[in-house]
Amino acid sequence: MKTVTIFDTPIEYLKGVGPVRADILKKELKIFTFNHLLHYFPFRYVDRSKFYKVTEVNNDSTYFQIKGKIIDMHKVGQGRSQRLVATLWDETGNIELVWFKGIKWIVDKIKSDKEYIVFGKPNYFNGRYNIPHPEIEEVGATKIDLGEQLQPFYFSTEKLKSKGLDSKGISKIMKNLMPVIQGHLNETLTPEIINNLKLITREDALINIHFPKNQQILQRASARLKFEELFFIQLTLLELKIIRTEKVKGHIFSVVGTYFNDFYHKNLPFELTGAQKKVTKEIRADLGLGKQMNRLLQGDVGSGKTLVALMNMLIAVDNGYQACMMAPTEILSVQHFNSISKFLQGLNINVRLLTGSTKTAERKIIHEELLNGELPLLVGTHALIEDKVKFKNLGLVVIDEQHRFGVAQRAKLWRKNIIPPHILVMTATPIPRTLAMTFYGDLDVSVIDEMPPGRKPIKTVHFYDKDRLKVFGFMKKQIKEGRQIYVVYPLINESEKLDLKDLMDGYESISREFPLPKYAISMVHGQLSSKEKDYEMQRFVKGETQIMVATTVIEVGVDIPNATVMIIENAERFGLSQLHQLRGRVGRGGSQSFCILMTKDKLTNDGWQRIKTMVSTTDGFIISEADLRLRGPGDLRGTQQSGIIDLKIADLIKDEKILQYARTTAIKLLKKDPHLNNKENRVLRKQLAYLNKNRIDWSRIS
Ligand code: ADP
Ligand code: MG
Repeated sequence: MKTVTIFDTPIEYLKGVGPVRADILKKELKIFTFNHLLHYFPFRYVDRSKFYKVTEVNNDSTYFQIKGKIIDMHKVGQGRSQRLVATLWDETGNIELVWFKGIKWIVDKIKSDKEYIVFGKPNYFNGRYNIPHPEIEEVGATKIDLGEQLQPFYFSTEKLKSKGLDSKGISKIMKNLMPVIQGHLNETLTPEIINNLKLITREDALINIHFPKNQQILQRASARLKFEELFFIQLTLLELKIIRTEKVKGHIFSVVGTYFNDFYHKNLPFELTGAQKKVTKEIRADLGLGKQMNRLLQGDVGSGKTLVALMNMLIAVDNGYQACMMAPTEILSVQHFNSISKFLQGLNINVRLLTGSTKTAERKIIHEELLNGELPLLVGTHALIEDKVKFKNLGLVVIDEQHRFGVAQRAKLWRKNIIPPHILVMTATPIPRTLAMTFYGDLDVSVIDEMPPGRKPIKTVHFYDKDRLKVFGFMKKQIKEGRQIYVVYPLINESEKLDLKDLMDGYESISREFPLPKYAISMVHGQLSSKEKDYEMQRFVKGETQIMVATTVIEVGVDIPNATVMIIENAERFGLSQLHQLRGRVGRGGSQSFCILMTKDKLTNDGWQRIKTMVSTTDGFIISEADLRLRGPGDLRGTQQSGIIDLKIADLIKDEKILQYARTTAIKLLKKDPHLNNKENRVLRKQLAYLNKNRIDWSRIS
């Protein structure tokens, strides 16, 4: 039964809100209840007890508070473009204050003999700073009371502002909320946790996060709330793992049979790397336990994950089960299918490919053979998870490049058998530890941290567009040596004509520079049918064309060892992990490979950081951490689609330590009390139930 508390009160009933503002709060910030508002935290605080001197203004990204006299005030311009410029003077110098709106009100308010407190964010313009639209208040008239020395800043939107809910407006209604909830804020952590980590109470934390009395208590409030947020995520994930290992039975793959042995002894063309052996062992151990495996296999691009997956798929077959491998795109699944077919040549094992473009006749055969068990191995795209696709006895599912699969799609795989199949999720984009802990905290992790031998590190260089002729020259030299080249254009949205235009223009200029019959060029982009794409791809794979001009459709997994040059056009428009993925397309053979990043002459700071990172390292982990710092985690993992983790206060980059504490605390706790049945842990169970009320059924998610 749902107990309704004061916190569930609809937001319109808060003093100062009402139906109109409530409507906008709901639409713009998803604030429906008192509780939602309470958890809408400031993103910054400004110390209003500190005053700066005019000469100390040195930055246009922070707020400054200055005390001084207005020594000049005049209007500039006419009509709509009119502005008011005032000069504030303190004993160190002067600075201009500028207003574009509310001019009359300011003119009436300011008197020349009085001292004022000015507060605002400076702007650097024409070689000096000014402060646009500062708050201004006569000294002594200030309404700021001591409790508000640290002024909270809330994110707001245009629509909210138009109804008076700018940062200050939000702060005002927050202030109305405080007396309502005070005394009702129950503790959600156990005394033991609170004492061990010396946390402040939940009530103190929630009040001080909005209205901090001082810097020190603000920090403690923030630490407490961050810990709490991360702790309950960890608790959920780890508990889920416990439930799965206890309740969900798994197929037991007890034997290593002829399929595996034949492959290993007759067909495997090279030695496994040490890392491949290590992770294979880890996976093998899981598969023999009688528990369902949920494992994440991490390994940089080209580290040989496919092979590891294949070996385990063969073991599934040896034990009488079916196995499938799912990839996010048609091209990738075709490629997996081809390389798996090649690995299995002469072994008399049935493998088929199922994608959106599989012909009806073939599809029918696949459906039949899956049901009667004649088809042990299947490779494909999303087509694999359609309801029509039914297996006789699915034992193992491998998901490649999983970040492209939505959570719901993965959950579907679970239901393909009465006993859920083992699940191996492979990802080529290394995930920073903090992210892995948060998003895959319930999965076991294996890491391939070694590349197959003989690979030469890829040389990465940056060229500006104006140096294109040099690049053409270099391309010709490489082609003369028998190598092949990718030229990749960014793609923001497949349907955007603009993207295609860039690609077409590029194709034309390359065609002019590399004319037939001496050269041949392939082109692949999202507007082609998959048949056309495949045709173009195949010409390049077979070496009939030397240059492949493409959009990012070739991003993942394509494996052509003879391709040694990756040219990325408008490289500044790509994210770091995407650049890293693209670069991973070359360097797959024994020859020296190159990645050339082309950019326009002017780069934003972020763009420049990304190029610099790419040029300086090929280490996927360093790159993904830099990516996390530059872009934030939301982008990185496509979490919007999963909607699972929506951090309100913790920051996965800055709060790694707190996350670590949260995880160890949760682990320790569950070791003693795996189901939180002990009396003292009842508060935790209650809070978990409350938090997970509206969430998707996590246990169904791999
Ligand atoms: P990933 O999927 O991890 O990006 P792949 O599985 O596609 O990497 O492997 C990249 C290439 O390296 C493939 O051509 C594969 O056949 C080859 N390869 C895999 N393991 C080894 C190994 N131990 N020694 C040599 N080459 C290997
Ligand atoms: Mg791969």
